[in-house]
Amino acid sequence: MNIILLGPPGAGKGTQARHLVDGRGMVQLSTGDMLRAAKDSGTEMGKIVAEVMARGDLVTDEIVIGLIREQLETVKANGFVFDGFPRTLAQADALNDLLSEFGQSLASVIALEVNDDVLVSRIVGRAEEARAAGQPVRSDDNAESLKIRLMEYYKKTSPLLGYYHAKGLLKSVDGLGDIDQVKGEISAILEG
Ligand code: ADP
Repeated sequence: MNIILLGPPGAGKGTQARHLVDGRGMVQLSTGDMLRAAKDSGTEMGKIVAEVMARGDLVTDEIVIGLIREQLETVKANGFVFDGFPRTLAQADALNDLLSEFGQSLASVIALEVNDDVLVSRIVGRAEEARAAGQPVRSDDNAESLKIRLMEYYKKTSPLLGYYHAKGLLKSVDGLGDIDQVKGEISAILEG
């Protein structure tokens, strides 16, 4: 079973993806985590993406599609949970092609619905908590980059809601509930 978690920054995609894979033998594929790992490893690609990410812009389709291809080629799993990918229509088309190349398909696309005020306060809160605990703060968790991340989401990613709706795959979940509530709603969709 392959699933996409779709939603704006701060909607809880990463948190829910981690819960989803737990005990199901599935693997979380987060392009954000892969890109941060590339950045930290100091590779050429890492250097290129670091600035783009810090600004809140999207990394090129070519780079993220390449990262996903690599995972699909090498990781064996009882299904994947795509978290933060696809983020553009071109990425969505590429994912379709990749999945069929590997003899796989998409079971559901779960859209986490959260309004902008909550997104901003969650992300600002996350950065403040990290700072108070002396932990590293994501370079894009600041008001300026967040504004760009939200704009990018509405311009480039939100059209995917219609794209997957047209394919009959879209399921919406209220992302405002607490973590366990949202988790329960997602499980009900997948098991129902
Ligand atoms: P969030 O959902 O909170 O914005 P992510 O970790 O998913 O966090 O993404 C962080 C940043 O990584 C994005 O703002 C973007 O720069 C880059 N990124 C992640 N996934 C993609 C993708 N699929 N396409 C392009 N850029 C991406």
